[in-house]
Amino acid sequence: MLDSLSNRLQGVFQKLSSKGTVREKDLDEALREVRVALLEADVNFKVVREFVKGVRERAIGADVLKSLTGPQQVIGFVNEEMVRILGEEQVGLATASKPPTILMLVGPKGSGKTTTAAKLALHLRKGGQKPILISTDAVRVAGSEQLLALGKQLNVPAADVSDAKPKDQAKAALAEAKKHGATALIVDTTGQIAYDSDSTADLREIHKAFGPTETLLVIDAMTGQEAVNVAQEMDDVFGIAGFIMAKMDGDARGGAALSIRAVTGLPIKFIGTGEKADALEAFIPDRFASRILGMGDVLTLVEKAAETIGDEDVQRLEKKLRTQTLDLEDFMIQIQQMKKMGPISQLVDMIPGLSNVKSQMNLDDIDESFWDKAEAVVYSMTPEERRHPELINGSRRRRIALGSGSSPQEINRLLNQWKQAKKIAQAVASGKGPSLLNMIRR
Ligand code: GDP
Ligand code: MG
Repeated sequence: MLDSLSNRLQGVFQKLSSKGTVREKDLDEALREVRVALLEADVNFKVVREFVKGVRERAIGADVLKSLTGPQQVIGFVNEEMVRILGEEQVGLATASKPPTILMLVGPKGSGKTTTAAKLALHLRKGGQKPILISTDAVRVAGSEQLLALGKQLNVPAADVSDAKPKDQAKAALAEAKKHGATALIVDTTGQIAYDSDSTADLREIHKAFGPTETLLVIDAMTGQEAVNVAQEMDDVFGIAGFIMAKMDGDARGGAALSIRAVTGLPIKFIGTGEKADALEAFIPDRFASRILGMGDVLTLVEKAAETIGDEDVQRLEKKLRTQTLDLEDFMIQIQQMKKMGPISQLVDMIPGLSNVKSQMNLDDIDESFWDKAEAVVYSMTPEERRHPELINGSRRRRIALGSGSSPQEINRLLNQWKQAKKIAQAVASGKGPSLLNMIRR
């Protein structure tokens, strides 16, 4: 997702991290590169300008130029600004105070409305609702057929009311909903070109008759900045509650997804990540930012960990992270947990800093036997060495190698990995964010 932007930003961070301290010159250079990367991803220039200004002000305010953790702090600020322009809080769908809830999807031709309607039906059903799909697409016969077919495939009731006059379609749809005991109507519409008022006349009448709980604008993520204009015009006509960015799995440059909230003030509620009906994700700004910035999806990882290892261990680990006292014994516990969590190749994407070196890593190297070896190595250390791995010199290394049946190189590799883990821990700990557990429970 947004791979080229993501790679460029990670390149900037790597360069910055390679410097011990950040001089003003380094900060300006990094920010210039961030600016160019965002502009090339077609992010709105005003949003870019505010973004860069925001990061710079925070950096100067926090005295990063004097700080030993300057690079990490700057990266943290980029993350915070990113979360800010994406809207901070996740915004879910509204439900009608008096059922049924009516969600109407509007948007340009081919943006993904019909596909998204089916995805939303699945999403609502998972949440315990009884959805019905409604086609009002009178322009493209294939459009209603497509929706009816999707309904059949997903075992969700679907009805085509597009034969009725625009003002009568809502009544027909509500009758169908009642027949099926539906609690939510998902209303698919004909593609609109926002600024052509003739083409919206029918849809305006349909919209008025339905009086939707929410009107959602479906946007093709590849549209770039033009999406912002469409959004503003559609909002003027229909009063948009938020956006669904479809086709985020493609090679979208990212401009639309990153600009639209800041420019319109309206939230992105979901992203579409594939053609299949289950390829819909709730849009959560901080998680999205972490992914773009290559910080891995730490929360998803922690969630997964909490499922496998329980809250108490997470709390203990978190305390260690915050007090920066992670030692090899903790690393050991982590390794044991990793073993429980499943194949390493699946986890790598979620681990900060690892996703961008994945192509250079030999993943076959890190199979189950790797963890067993790591365990053997740590067990061959004295408790003192586990708490203070910096004590491990040449002769200690040889002793540990002998005890664990491994080579000194393997021990070095493990120690490097532990250092990497510690770095990640420090990055997490330096974030002033809420507790990991609270974030999971959100
Ligand atoms: P509509 O004209 O707005 O109803 O658009 P459709 O729902 O018919 O979608 C147009 C095309 O985009 C179809 O080929 C869909 O399979 C495809 N599509 C929709 N959403 C996504 C998505 O999230 N990812 C991908 N890769 N394709 C999508
Ligand atoms: Mg359609």
